[in-house]
Amino acid sequence: MPVSGKTKKNKIKSKSQSKLQSNSHAKNKPAKKLVEKKASTLTMKIGEQIWPVERDVLFRPDRLKYVRKLIKTSGCVFCESKQAGVSFESLLLFKSQHSMIVMNKFPYNPGHVLVLPQRHCGDLLKLSDAEYTDLHQTFRLAFRAITAAFSPAGINSGLNHGAVAGAGIPEHLHFHIVPRWTGDLNFFPLIAETKALPTDLEASYQSLHQELAKPEYRVD
Ligand SMILES: [Zn+2]
Repeated sequence: MPVSGKTKKNKIKSKSQSKLQSNSHAKNKPAKKLVEKKASTLTMKIGEQIWPVERDVLFRPDRLKYVRKLIKTSGCVFCESKQAGVSFESLLLFKSQHSMIVMNKFPYNPGHVLVLPQRHCGDLLKLSDAEYTDLHQTFRLAFRAITAAFSPAGINSGLNHGAVAGAGIPEHLHFHIVPRWTGDLNFFPLIAETKALPTDLEASYQSLHQELAKPEYRVD
């Protein structure tokens, strides 16, 4: 197709514009590099393929640690975590015969864990007797480990059964265990949908992981 004078002129203009843009881009390169470098230092080591990032998260070991948007994955994060095995990347802390303990990626407090059946099941009444018994024994182990690792003043625990009850992932049931300390609640989560924590997720993970590695937690 023949190019009209006007179109040609536009093309030339567009070329020179893009050159200009690329020049200005080149000038900005050091700034961009700096931004990229900063961003990389803020990246968590959690496996992004397993744990989607769905909201801004703020941890505060030394003030603002990172704020980032997360990537959604398909499938069940708990099942993917189980497949990946015990590591900080998967957030999986512990496996018993039928159950597992996983760190909550969006903790209400340091040491906030989830205790859940290994089988992908959202209905407590559909667990076998063996799964149910194991789940509650594992729940008690998690409770004990949190108490030993964090010495909380109290603990909240519970199950949101079904989406209408507030379960974030209703198709794979999970009990929450949240350590509590006097004065740990503030208004920040209410106004910013962000929770400020006095420690980071990895430090909490390592504390619990070390505790759960002790012989008294062995279940096999
Ligand atoms: Zn699952």
